[in-house]
Parts: sequence; C-alpha cells; structure tokens
Amino acid sequence: MTVDDALADSHPVWGDESAVVQAAINWAAQRVVRHTDPLSTARSASALAAAAGPTVTPEGIGGEQALRVFREVLEPATRSQDDPYNLAYIAAAPTRAAVAFDFVTSAANIFGGLWEAGAGAIHAENDALAWITRLLGWPVTSGGTFVSGGTSGNLSALMTARETARTRRGARPAGGWKLACAATAHSSIASAAKALDVEVVSVPVDARGHLTGAALRATLFGNPEVFAVVASAGTTNEGVVDDLADIAAVAHEFGAWMHVDGAYGGAGLAAPSVRHLFDGIEQADSFIVDPHKWLFAPYDCCALVYREPELARSVHSQHASYLDHVDRESWNPSDMALQLTRRARGLPFWFSLATHGTDRYRDAVESSLTSSRIVADAIRTSDHLRLVCEPELSIVLFDRPGWSPADYAQWSRQTAEQGTLFCIPTTWRNHTVLRLAFVNPATDPARVIEILQSLR
Ligand SMILES: *Cc1c(COP(=O)(O)O)cnc(C)c1O
Repeated sequence: MTVDDALADSHPVWGDESAVVQAAINWAAQRVVRHTDPLSTARSASALAAAAGPTVTPEGIGGEQALRVFREVLEPATRSQDDPYNLAYIAAAPTRAAVAFDFVTSAANIFGGLWEAGAGAIHAENDALAWITRLLGWPVTSGGTFVSGGTSGNLSALMTARETARTRRGARPAGGWKLACAATAHSSIASAAKALDVEVVSVPVDARGHLTGAALRATLFGNPEVFAVVASAGTTNEGVVDDLADIAAVAHEFGAWMHVDGAYGGAGLAAPSVRHLFDGIEQADSFIVDPHKWLFAPYDCCALVYREPELARSVHSQHASYLDHVDRESWNPSDMALQLTRRARGLPFWFSLATHGTDRYRDAVESSLTSSRIVADAIRTSDHLRLVCEPELSIVLFDRPGWSPADYAQWSRQTAEQGTLFCIPTTWRNHTVLRLAFVNPATDPARVIEILQSLR
C-alpha cells in the first residue's frame, strides 16, 4: 500500500506528512499479520525514560524517530494480549479483519455520537447490535450503543435503571437506593455503585457459585430500596452463569431492573453447546458484552443494549443550547450511555462480523469452549493436578495438590519468562488455584496440556 504521491500535501502548519503516514501504515500492516511476541512485557517508568529519551520537545523529534521509539522501545514494553498462550485474566483474540478495520475507522475519523454526523457508521454498528439482541431473544425495538468497556457499560445501564426507578417509584428512599448482586459480580459493579451513591446488597451464592432466584427473593424481601439486580452471565473468575430465568422472575416481581453483565461470557450466547445456560436472558432489561474479550474485536469495545432503549434516551440524552438543533428522532448513540463524543468503536466488530459471518463466529466461540473442555478433561484425569470445579464456559480452575502460593507464583513467573504460557494464580474459596481463560481460537489445547506437565 502506498500513499498516492499526488495526494502528498504540504499543509500550511504541519508540512508534508506523507512519509510518516506511509511509515505508520506499514508498521500497522505488518503488526496485524505477524506472530505476537509472548516475551514483550512491562518495564519500569525509569527504564522506559532512559530507553526512549525525551520525546515531547519544543521542536519535535520527527515522525521517523517517534515511530522508531514506539517500535523499538514502547511497543515491546506492552503485553501481547492476542498471543495464543496468553491465558491470564481475559486476553483478546481480534480477527485480522477487525484490527485492519480499526485503522479504517480511525482514518475516517467519524463523530459517532449523533446520527446526523455519523449515520452510516451508526447504521452498521446497529446491525452488529441487532445480531446481539437477536441472540438475546429481545424484541426488534431493543438497541443500544458501543462504549469503551464493561465498566462504563455497567455504569450507564445502572444509571438508566436508577433513574427509571426514580421516575416509577417516586422519591429517593430515606436510606438511599440499593442494588443487589452476588459477591462474584465484577468489581466494576461496586465502582458503579460508588459513582451512583447507592449501597450494594450482597446476595449469597449457591454451592456452585450461582446467584439464584431463591436467595435473591430472601434478600429483596428485606430490602425494598433495591432498584436493580445485577446477574453475571459468566463471572470473571470462574465463568459461572447465574440462574438468569429465576433471577428475572424475582427481580421483576419486586419491581427491580435486571441487568445482565456478560462482559466476558456473553459471547457464549452464540454457542449452541452452552446457550441453555442463558435461558431467561430474554427477560432482562439491559445487557453488556465486550467484543474486545471473546467476540474477536480489538480494544476498546463494549456492546450495551436495552430492552426498552427509550428509557435510556430519557436518562442519557444531553441538552444544551448548542445541542438544540440535534435531531432527537434519530438514533443518537449519545442518548444511550454516559457519553457524547465517541468514536464509532463498534465498526471493527461490525466489519469482522460482516466479513466472516455469524456462523464462523459461532464456530470460533465453540472452539474456545472445546479447548477448555479438552484441557479440563486432561486435568481431571491427570495424576498430578485437580480440577477444582467443572467449567461452565471457557475458564478452567485447577490446582496442584501440595503446592503453596509461593510455588504457584514462581511457576507462573517462570513460564511467563520463558514465553511458553501466561497463566496466573487466583483465589477460589480462599485457596490459591491456577486459572486458564480460553478466548483465542488459535490456542492449541494439546500444547497447553504439555506445558501443564511442568507442574509436576
Ligand atoms: C471484564 C469484565 C468487566 C469489565 O469490563 P472492562 O471492559 O474491563 O471495563 C465487567 N464485568 C465482567 C463480568 C467482566 O469480565
């Protein structure tokens, strides 16, 4: 790809940037297709300062030099999230089509907050969201927008829920509003509660770690101030899907909003082998899933959808004299979340879905599930490891009987330093275990099993 010389400009302020544009495009194009380096890793700020040297200077260091610093110093000091053997936290596995279209999205520099400025892009984003709402079994009138991540999606959804309760139930309860969730809910729910100044009521989970309708009912009886219930469709630590159907019934019986956090596990909606775990999700009021986790999109991308988007519109729509002329009849993504200016961050996801088709997406999600089952089976039948719980989605928790937390930490550090596997310990029921999260169809389960031999 070359930048057409005829288009090379001489800008009155920035001069001719065509060489640096070409160099940046070349680097990006090779990064999309190259193998990732599992050894790339964080360095201290002082080491980076010494290696990079001064970069922001009155005269500028020039594009060539800035790109060299990025290529040789900065990018190697970041972790390869898309490495197939990065199974820590929740990694990422964007398709090449999605990453390439992220450049396109940037180049088009679309203001995605309002229909009048971003109509074409928003139309495509809404097509991608419609696939998600079809998987949820929601009415065609449902919809939402893309925000930066699950944290911001959860906050916007719960803000809509709280304001809807205020409208429907009247004034703020004397002791303030409350939201109910299990201790297994993601940490971002506690952050959202802080931002909204609401109390979190913790609902006990069952023996297997699920939030259930019965436990929720007991909690809601004593807490009429609860305006929303948050269920997890894939807890982050162990990939457990709460009892969504019972939770929906109980939440609605008590007049509470039901929000489902599927940031990681929501991708499982596309996989027939686990779809039954999500039964009841068709009754939820709002839902999030991060395509940057297990739906093969690059950072940063969270799909936030509402069963009744007009409730979100009445909460999030911003009014000001300079916004007076905005067409309020059209689909304005800024009405759906706590955001005004936004990049059309759903476009790379849309492009990848359009390119590959939803059948291939189904197969890709199933492939992570298959990998996790193969590895779980190997652990279950091994003589040196113990599967601590049966995986529901693609997270496998296991331990090595006889090992101390220090042993796990050392093994984890060593395999990361060798670049063979990135797997870190977590805590499960107060003891240290190892955790593997499969989201990358390029991960070979046989190789993972082989690496686990080093836990002997
Ligand atoms: C990752 C995660 C989040 C937070 O999402 P971000 O995109 O990191 O903000 C929220 N909920 C669950 C269940 C998650 O796994």
